[in-house]
Amino acid sequence: MLNWGKSAALVMGLSAAAMGAENQELAAAVEGQLAGLDSTYRDLHRAPELSRSEERTSAFLAGELRKAGYDVTEHVGKYTDGSRAYGIVGMMKNGAGPTVLVRTDMDALPVEEQTGVEYASHVKVRDADGRQVGVMHACGHDVHMTVFLGVARTLAKMKADWHGTLMLIGQPSEERVDGARAMLDDGLYERFGRPDYALALHDDSDLATGKIGVNVGPALASSTPVDVTIRGLGGHGAHPDATKDPIVAAAEYIMAIQTIVSRQTSPLDPAVVTVGTIHGGSKRNVIPDEVKLELSIRAYSERVRENILSDLSRTAKGIALAAGIPESRAPIVTVGGDGTVPETYNDPALARRLEAVFVGLLGKQNVTEPKPIMGSEDFGLFGLEGRTMPICMVRLGAVAPDKVEDRERTGVPLPSLHSSRFAPQPDPTIRTGVEAMTAAVLDLMKSR
Ligand SMILES: [Zn+2]
Ligand SMILES: [Zn+2]
Repeated sequence: MLNWGKSAALVMGLSAAAMGAENQELAAAVEGQLAGLDSTYRDLHRAPELSRSEERTSAFLAGELRKAGYDVTEHVGKYTDGSRAYGIVGMMKNGAGPTVLVRTDMDALPVEEQTGVEYASHVKVRDADGRQVGVMHACGHDVHMTVFLGVARTLAKMKADWHGTLMLIGQPSEERVDGARAMLDDGLYERFGRPDYALALHDDSDLATGKIGVNVGPALASSTPVDVTIRGLGGHGAHPDATKDPIVAAAEYIMAIQTIVSRQTSPLDPAVVTVGTIHGGSKRNVIPDEVKLELSIRAYSERVRENILSDLSRTAKGIALAAGIPESRAPIVTVGGDGTVPETYNDPALARRLEAVFVGLLGKQNVTEPKPIMGSEDFGLFGLEGRTMPICMVRLGAVAPDKVEDRERTGVPLPSLHSSRFAPQPDPTIRTGVEAMTAAVLDLMKSR
């Protein structure tokens, strides 16, 4: 027993020393790039492009990957409407070994920036109604791209330390959650090979800079759009008895579906039913023929998701029946379409492995296991149906530590992702991201 204990300590001591030397080598390889990465971050932040419009952003990333020695293919992606996609793939082959995919997203949001930072975006575009709207990297995809370039360059420099194939991808249109699907539909894995692992990171507006969060298992929820049209029989507002009022039925429906999560779903299964829009009617004294609702459903398990969807349909039918709406005017419930994504499920073995790498790199106090969130991502699609490929999305702390302390003290929430006031602190967020993601890839591709 004693002997075993001694030798284990000896082995651990040696590996800690070896790990220390590896981390120092990594830190040295990253250090020299930091000033350049900081100005890249500011440039990207100043020049955001909306989903499906990432033309200059993707061309910049492609050019930088080429300079670093990657074999780059542009315009990878196929949207259902045939519009041009700006996905990029950078490949680097370095002998036999695993294929590791590292993904960054590239798109920004229609948000008018109010951070007041010196490198704020003043970009404006016209929306579908012809109005000028501001564009901002309010989700931090500029942080992701900057880290991605740092990782690409560091791994290109450290080729002696890994073997296998790197597949670095710039994914378009994450905010519309159709970019990952577009790349897969364009034969991403058939053309460039099927990875053994897929990794990504997302900045976190609640986690202090310098820290990394790793979810083991569920990380982000599935998202399912549902459209409901409650139909009635319209008429004069003064003669409701001669109509079947869809506005009253829609109001009843909205209240009735509030009990799907509270009464029909297990309290141990997270789920959300949100009615985001309601449109009906044109004049105060006219009872309309129909009311349209747009819903967003979030869940972590397929069983829960399917139960919610059948509850939504059944309740719509029941309310129409109770209101005496004829069968021919039954509600129409449409599920899915654009915006449907599965949950992001971090492979537990991979997540634990990376967690150990991050603890070795940053110390235990800087690696947390945050709660899963009900937000959604399309990164989960890269893991393919049935979680056949191990994937892991890690969270990168992006907020000044004193702001996190303020929030804990006062309870006042910090500006969240997608907020016009979300301003990640570039240093040491970028350094931490580059070191952590590079260390993760090196661990998966160690010479073996
Ligand atoms: Zn976002
Ligand atoms: Zn995002």
